[in-house]
Amino acid sequence: MRKLTLPIFALLLFTSAALAEGGFYGDAPDANHPWAIHDMNRPQPMRVEPGTFSSQEKPGAPPSDAVILFGGQADEIAKWQADKTPAEPTKWEVKDGVLQCVPGSGYIRSKEEFADCQLHIEWSAPSKVEGNSQGRGNSGVFLMGQVEIQVLDNHNNPTYADGFASSIYGINPPMANALHAPGEWQTYDIVFRRPLFKDGQQIDPGYITVFVNGVLTQDHTPLEGGGGHKSRSKSRTFPDKGPLKLQDHGNPVRYRNIWYRPLPKRVTEGGEYSRMSEEATAAKRSEIAKGIREDAGKLEGNAKMYRLLESLCYADDAAAREAGVAAAGQFVAELQATPKDKLESKKGTTLQFQKAMDYLVKFKVLPEDFAPKAAVTEIVKASEWDKKK
Ligand code: MG
Repeated sequence: MRKLTLPIFALLLFTSAALAEGGFYGDAPDANHPWAIHDMNRPQPMRVEPGTFSSQEKPGAPPSDAVILFGGQADEIAKWQADKTPAEPTKWEVKDGVLQCVPGSGYIRSKEEFADCQLHIEWSAPSKVEGNSQGRGNSGVFLMGQVEIQVLDNHNNPTYADGFASSIYGINPPMANALHAPGEWQTYDIVFRRPLFKDGQQIDPGYITVFVNGVLTQDHTPLEGGGGHKSRSKSRTFPDKGPLKLQDHGNPVRYRNIWYRPLPKRVTEGGEYSRMSEEATAAKRSEIAKGIREDAGKLEGNAKMYRLLESLCYADDAAAREAGVAAAGQFVAELQATPKDKLESKKGTTLQFQKAMDYLVKFKVLPEDFAPKAAVTEIVKASEWDKKK
């Protein structure tokens, strides 16, 4: 069964892609979406070479575009500084490829400053178990130096839930306790979005998603100001960027394999993912239309006609409309002048043209009574190309 299903599935995919290549395929751009559905004008995703997963023995390799904050080299301590006296080097130590908290030496902060990110960090609580609740293997990952994702040895160690390992401290407990035993490496994969404000109003509370050892523990949790100790935090502005801070809470917690990838802007700050504002959509549609017209300028014949007409789906333009409409008129005039016995050789191009006409009328780019549409429909009917055989 599997052997039969796969080639059919592959064929369907290929057919869809081939249809989409020529435009006039999925629903046209609208007021909040600058691209059509399945739009081949939409940029291809950026290529990133993936890294490898870590094992207990060995940290994995970061993806190709990661900014590495600590990769196991002793001289990388220079990427960090003491938090309280930033001009001074940190007293934390690098030993055997591991960055270790020296209790009493204070928090450390990265010299690198950033904001919205995918952050990967691995930590290990002391294998010699000492203390309990918040006193056992406590450290913390402070995003932008503002919000703490708790680091704590909660393996058989209860504490208040909103202070648990991978809690957003003082805000939200994790959905699960997926920790390994103390002394083993724990992996945090974090997606962080800072709060956004416009004209003094919060337009996005900011969110954090966390996976602990591959298990989801925070699912797009709103920041509500960022949390803290004892006090309920209130919504507040964040700077544009900040350092990553690691907490000294008096326990010699170890870290390795720390890297981040900056995230693209959200639509509320001019990004192009998901539903966009009408203003941003209109601007983007004009930009796409301009690019298609530039492309049309390098083409000839039908290819040029289709690109000109396609550009009108994004933004109207008198010259492009005039040239596209004239080319469509010429296309049907040539069809009409073709002797009946020679028409069969033009079946493919005729049906392609009809598909484009139907699409452009359906999405009101061309008027319902557009003459070349009526003409091509007539030719298709007379040739019985509209009938399934
Ligand atoms: Mg802590």
